[in-house]
Amino acid sequence: MARSLSVYRKKRDFKKTKEPAGQKEVGGKRPTAWGVAQRRPIFVIQQHAARAMHYDLRLQIGGVLVSWAVPKGPSLNPKTKRLAVMTEDHPMEYAKFEGIISKGEYGAGPVIVWDRGTYKNLREKDEKIVSMPTCLREGRIEVFLRGKKLKGAFALIRMKGTVGTKSPKSNWLLIKMKDEYADARRNPVSSAPESVKTGKTIKDWKEKMKVKRSERNPSKL
Ligand code: MN
Repeated sequence: MARSLSVYRKKRDFKKTKEPAGQKEVGGKRPTAWGVAQRRPIFVIQQHAARAMHYDLRLQIGGVLVSWAVPKGPSLNPKTKRLAVMTEDHPMEYAKFEGIISKGEYGAGPVIVWDRGTYKNLREKDEKIVSMPTCLREGRIEVFLRGKKLKGAFALIRMKGTVGTKSPKSNWLLIKMKDEYADARRNPVSSAPESVKTGKTIKDWKEKMKVKRSERNPSKL
């Protein structure tokens, strides 16, 4: 299934945002998200303080990062279902992006790499792996995440009433599957707010924004 970055690119002015435009061709070269070729497909979760705070979960599928905005972030409790709204596909290079999307641009606000790692597709049918594009089309994804903060099996289930695989606004549920890593008491969203890339929190980036603004315009402090 061919994925496309045209929606991603249409929303952004790469002269004004520091976000990557991505390779010209999707899936042309083997994507390298961390700067080195990965044997396994990658995932990343970016905390993003845009108009509303959310966590962008992205899975490498078909040469792009298929993306969902999860307002409350992931939960380790299998009883907690988290809304995950599908958004536009992002380029592989986006997995490394951390910093500030400037005012006036799409998604303005700080972004941190909240967690990252690799994943394994868990879905099988008749003892065969169901491919990720098929999982997407069927609206049912089951993956084992190997991140720095998140470990274990998670499911993404498309809710009834949202049709089509490309609909950028289809609603899904992110649910921790039952396994030894499920934990109703631990909540990494609150206990581990820092970036796995820089150690900075969203708050740190916001402070930096304030300092920059006051340097430019001291009277407005
Ligand atoms: Mn976002």
